[in-house]
Amino acid sequence: MGGRDATADGLSAALRALPSVERLAAALDAPHALAVAAARAAIEERRAALRHGQAGDGSDIAELARGKLAAAQAPSLRRVINAAGVIVHTNLGRAPLAAAAREAVAAAAEGYSNLELDLASGERGSRQAHVEELLRELTGAQAALVVNNGAGAVLLAAAALAAGRGLVVSRGQLVEIGGAFRIPDVVGQSGARLVEVGTTNRTRRSDYERALAALAPGEQRVILRVHASNFRTLGFTEEVAIEELCALGVPVIDDVGSGRLDDDLAALADEPSVRRSVAAGAALVCFSGDKLLGGPQAGLLVGRAESVARARAHPLARALRIDKLSLAALEATLRLYRDPARARRELPVLAMLDATGEELAGRAERLRGGLAEAGVASEVHEAVARVGGGALPLLELRGPAVALDPAAMGAEELARRLRLGDPPVVARIERGRVLLDPRTMTDDDAEGARAGVVAALR
Ligand SMILES: *Cc1c(COP(=O)(O)O)cnc(C)c1O
Repeated sequence: MGGRDATADGLSAALRALPSVERLAAALDAPHALAVAAARAAIEERRAALRHGQAGDGSDIAELARGKLAAAQAPSLRRVINAAGVIVHTNLGRAPLAAAAREAVAAAAEGYSNLELDLASGERGSRQAHVEELLRELTGAQAALVVNNGAGAVLLAAAALAAGRGLVVSRGQLVEIGGAFRIPDVVGQSGARLVEVGTTNRTRRSDYERALAALAPGEQRVILRVHASNFRTLGFTEEVAIEELCALGVPVIDDVGSGRLDDDLAALADEPSVRRSVAAGAALVCFSGDKLLGGPQAGLLVGRAESVARARAHPLARALRIDKLSLAALEATLRLYRDPARARRELPVLAMLDATGEELAGRAERLRGGLAEAGVASEVHEAVARVGGGALPLLELRGPAVALDPAAMGAEELARRLRLGDPPVVARIERGRVLLDPRTMTDDDAEGARAGVVAALR
């Protein structure tokens, strides 16, 4: 009994000894409301700890409050190190930008720009003018339009060309691209009527022909082809090539997903070529700016002049308008493609795909050596990286990775500590080990990952 009273007395004394919110806040160098919130959070945490019998660990409550304040003042959206080896990682912001694109964004952000001003005439211009000529040149299309993302490009294409009409899609292409982007839902939102043809694994030219022949007099139809970006059907399968679809005599919208502008890069061979679809005569070809193109989030539409004009005139075009920072990054990215060798060197996504075994081995070995110097044992062994972001699902990028043994802590806990570091490091777990993949890291990132591992194991 007596012991219990002594504990209770000790608790109330410890609670009484806590400073008031106002006094603790006054000791913090921050705007009043932020300081009060941090002080209150620190006091509440300490009070709860005391009540749970964790009598003062001796640490200073002002220190606890300063920690809360720092956390509240830190930006939420932060640079992280991608050690996961997934090149187009949707959760990590997809494509990192080339230096030229980053500089273009900074310049456009810093001051005013000729976003919608024709400098020669002094009259109002179109923001599309900054990229349309480049896109025509790079794809061979008659005209081009850019909007704020790939999903928006598909929605706009369907609304502009097929609202009130039948939109013919193969059952093998009624796909979900990720999150809430499902082709049947997008078609529904566009005002088009979905006309399904073929089966999940096989759709033939005759299936499309039948659907087109079943038209009521005066009714018009449009074909939508959707690239199976994030999966493959294997075995007894059949699809109709874009050239054959375009030969059926109705407008074709081709959603190529990531697509590719570089037709000679071997690693991209399984992605549909934008130039090929344009040459086949597609009315509109839709693709993303921030997948394997390696630019900012954007949706690109290229194709026939008349179809692009309809998309441009549709009210959704205004709602889906691209912003000036993305446009600046997109223009700079597209300019790099004028020199394919330069694009492969300077666009991070292409450079990662194209990285040599020697380059990767060098970075992995330096990382292993740096860890060893800090007393952390690791091993370099062969692993498989992925493209991610809903592109090239079967492509295995073999290369070295640095494997850490998490010991008693376990791989999940080590990976969690790495994510909570500064900067956060996102690693990959394979067979109970934590892997750091040099493919998606720069040399500076690898140094950051080394420091992150040392801190996480401390
Ligand atoms: C990724 C993708 C989209 C959506 O593009 P976002 O840029 O993510 O909006 C649409 N269609 C296909 C086939 C895709 O792969």
